[in-house]
Amino acid sequence: MEMSAAIELAGVQKDFRSHGELVPALRATDLTVGRGEFFSLLGPSGCGKTTTMRLIAGFEEPTAGTVYLDGHDVTGVPPHRRDVNMVFQSYALFPHLNTYRNVAFGLERRKVGRTEIRRRVGEILDIVDLTGLEQRFPRELSGGQQQRVALARALVNRPRALLLDEPLGALDLKLRQHMQVELKRIQREVGVTFVYVTHDQDEALTMSDRIAVMRAGSIEQLGTPREIYERPATRFVAGFIGAANLLDGAADSVADGIAVLAYGPGERVLVPVPDSVRPGDALEVSVRPEKIGLSRDEPAGAGNSTLTGVVADVVYHGTATSYTVKTGTGADLVVFGQNTASAADLAGPGDRVFLTWSPQHSYPIGVR
Ligand code: ADP
Ligand code: MG
Repeated sequence: MEMSAAIELAGVQKDFRSHGELVPALRATDLTVGRGEFFSLLGPSGCGKTTTMRLIAGFEEPTAGTVYLDGHDVTGVPPHRRDVNMVFQSYALFPHLNTYRNVAFGLERRKVGRTEIRRRVGEILDIVDLTGLEQRFPRELSGGQQQRVALARALVNRPRALLLDEPLGALDLKLRQHMQVELKRIQREVGVTFVYVTHDQDEALTMSDRIAVMRAGSIEQLGTPREIYERPATRFVAGFIGAANLLDGAADSVADGIAVLAYGPGERVLVPVPDSVRPGDALEVSVRPEKIGLSRDEPAGAGNSTLTGVVADVVYHGTATSYTVKTGTGADLVVFGQNTASAADLAGPGDRVFLTWSPQHSYPIGVR
């Protein structure tokens, strides 16, 4: 028997009307989120992330298309009957209720028995690590603790899915990173499907099973963090996720599934390509900064990409140093070097350097 997806959008589209203008917030979209999956929507402000969440939760109805939860068509079903919960950046806790009562609120309203409430609230407070803080009021809790109360309050109802819209946006960096790890642990423990909205690529890469990268109301690429990072499908995805090095060129030759882009004597980029690519075809190649080796001496390996350039900029980051290198290809490439002892003083501004990387770290964008 085939298990239905936790969430499915089939041709879901949402247009708003604002001051007589049509705003296509979400273009016709198909999307499936598996049970127990940690699924992220990632993209810049205004790309349609919140609209997508509100369509799943039932706070908006689609202009076209169908929303399914656990295989049931819920289009037109009001939010309180969809069995999904939403957590926002503003926690919206009841200020006059303590932690325990904030979490118990939904269960009390549904007339769940006192003993059962005590058991379930205790269990969920334990999972979110708030045991001992039952009597505190929201104003007596830190931002991170308040966020955990909000999370506990949403999870105690045992929703089919939890929708989290930039829930860590108000926290400072250190706390945010800590909560990223915590959220992932909590999700694993409760086994609930999470749909997570963020505009922070690090956050999405760290936490997600799969990511949908959105742009202007469309999903530009959907895949695992590794796929999205290592094999960006479009220029936009390459640029939005991590530091992108993009090289334009034409295939000089193609042999054994590898195209060679030649930029001059000894200057070439090797990239694996599908059979459809022919010599002369224009190619756009992405290579990540940590994949490139930088040295002042000419490298040996003939089977690798090699370019020469001049260091324009050096930035020390603690664990790594980033070098911006002006190359003869027309592109400036960023190279990350780990700060091991041997890497000290690798190169400075104005130095002529060799860049090298193996073919598998080049990825052709938009080629099928
Ligand atoms: P995100 O969450 O990715 O920042 P949103 O989903 O909030 O983006 O918004 C997507 C687009 O839809 C934006 O252009 C936004 O201005 C527009 N939009 C969202 N809600 C409304 C609304 N109620 N009325 C009109 N336009 C809206
Ligand atoms: Mg939003």
